[in-house]
Amino acid sequence: MKAIVDRQKCTVCGVCTDVCPFGAISLKETCIEISDECTLCGMCVDTCEFGALSLPEVGTGPAADLASYKGVWVFAEWREGVIHKVGHELLSAGRKLADKRSVELAAVLLGYQLDKTTIEELISYGADVVYVVDHPELAHFRDEAYAKAIVELIRQKKPEILLAGATSMGRSFIPRVAASVKTGLTADCTELDISDEGLLLQTRPAFGGNVMATIVCPNRRPQMATVRPKVMKPEKKPGHHGRVENLTLSEECFKSRVEVLEVIPEQDQTAKLTEADIIVSGGRGLRKSENFAIVEELAQLIKGAVGASRGAVEEGWIAPSHQVGQTGRTVAPTLYMAVGIAGAIQHVVGMQGSKVIVAVNKDPQAPIFDVATYGVVADLFEFVPAFVQKIKQERGE
Ligand SMILES: Cc1cc2nc3c(=O)[nH]c(=O)nc-3n(C[C@H](O)[C@H](O)[C@H](O)COP(=O)(O)OP(=O)(O)OC[C@H]3O[C@@H](n4cnc5c(N)ncnc54)[C@H](O)[C@@H]3O)c2cc1C
Repeated sequence: MKAIVDRQKCTVCGVCTDVCPFGAISLKETCIEISDECTLCGMCVDTCEFGALSLPEVGTGPAADLASYKGVWVFAEWREGVIHKVGHELLSAGRKLADKRSVELAAVLLGYQLDKTTIEELISYGADVVYVVDHPELAHFRDEAYAKAIVELIRQKKPEILLAGATSMGRSFIPRVAASVKTGLTADCTELDISDEGLLLQTRPAFGGNVMATIVCPNRRPQMATVRPKVMKPEKKPGHHGRVENLTLSEECFKSRVEVLEVIPEQDQTAKLTEADIIVSGGRGLRKSENFAIVEELAQLIKGAVGASRGAVEEGWIAPSHQVGQTGRTVAPTLYMAVGIAGAIQHVVGMQGSKVIVAVNKDPQAPIFDVATYGVVADLFEFVPAFVQKIKQERGE
């Protein structure tokens, strides 16, 4: 499907060719031509002052019956018996959206041998209903099978909103779901809300974090968004009641070209970093790789994980799995210490949810002090060893 041109009205002025972000419009002698690159974004329709362009009436597919799509869904990520915390965070965010829309909030749980406690926990975070698909083929994550299962559920139940975590699992299969049901997807949202018209407002950083873009999906359903772990706050709803619906799907859903031969538990630092209660991060102010030992010693002493700015990662002083920020991990520990980190917006978006932020920087104008709870204007090579010494002294070590 593509935009429609009214040949009678088209003056071949060429304005639409300039505004089309996809280069889908070309000028011909007597009219314009629209190629298959057209995504029906509507930019050309809005700018054509002659009313020569329009979008096709959608007669089939999800857009045909927008009103029949109801309810907010949260994909509750389950792996090897455990629900990822982002599921709880999204249920809390989804609860607010569902209340604004006066619709049900559903948690969607795929897995194998799912236990009652896991299911009830989802209700305690605000789910009105938990849709459970329990099948041996869902014991281990495979994106083809998971995507097919969610697509079949969407076709059966027609949710208006679907939220998922921007985790390695979510990033892997949620785009496949969106493409299969021909709807939009906004990745890595930092805010979600409902517009006066009842649409999902999906806000995320754009253009390198310099602007916040709010995206809507007016013509397709479900409206789909992913959110990184720790961006939303989990909130239990004591006394909340919900029901459980066990659903069966066609065997076709579970067919996949991927076979899981062995599961090797994650040893990676990333998992440690996002779950850590205390993080000590080092930046380019450390000057060289060996100096990361200063940060590591402090982290070890206060039982924290080691993070880093992209500056430090780019210097090759520490592995990328330690990076905090827009292109690294989003973290929200109780204590975040930024040592020799300037505080660029791309770093700050990944750690500003921390409860207490302590910044150590020799430059009093460093932007990190704008978000810091406590700022230490000092040379890190003097301050950190002295701080370590003081802690050891206090502990009698
Ligand atoms: C699209 C995009 C995505 C990005 N994603 C990320 C991301 O995910 N995470 C991230 O961190 N960055 C990211 N960046 C990079 C970001 O813009 C910054 O360049 C980076 O965070 C800078 O790292 P830094 O603060 O360690 O280094 P610098 O900017 O070099 O700052 C070093 C700081 O150390 C201080 N300092 C120096 N010596 C000492 C000393 N002896 N004692 C105390 N303080 C000292 C300095 O005053 C300075 O403030 C991204 C950039 C782009 C364009």
